[in-house]
Amino acid sequence: MAGLKFCPKCGTLMRPDRKRGVWVCPNCGYEEPITDEDKKKTRITQKVEHRPDEGVVIVDQEVETLPTTRVYCPKCGEVVEAYWWEVQTRAGDEPSTIFYKCKKCGYVWRSYE
Ligand SMILES: [Zn+2]
Ligand SMILES: [Zn+2]
Repeated sequence: MAGLKFCPKCGTLMRPDRKRGVWVCPNCGYEEPITDEDKKKTRITQKVEHRPDEGVVIVDQEVETLPTTRVYCPKCGEVVEAYWWEVQTRAGDEPSTIFYKCKKCGYVWRSYE
């Protein structure tokens, strides 16, 4: 399963809360979604902001370890290279969402399937 994960804020070993699908820091309470990327031992930190009008919006993301794909960017209006990652929503029983980030213009959007 997922490997060890350390809190990016205080460096404490984080514990997986599988019911809620998040890593939890027992020291400072920092939480991070458990994703398939954790199993590949890539480092991803992200803050997820909830807005009533737009749903979930990623406001800060380290993308250097993310895989890329070719996808249509709604801002560029063409097919571009884009990073993609999966986010498990707060309710663990909901399906996870794929997000894309355009390498060209930096625009972030979610896939609607
Ligand atoms: Zn911490
Ligand atoms: Zn773009």
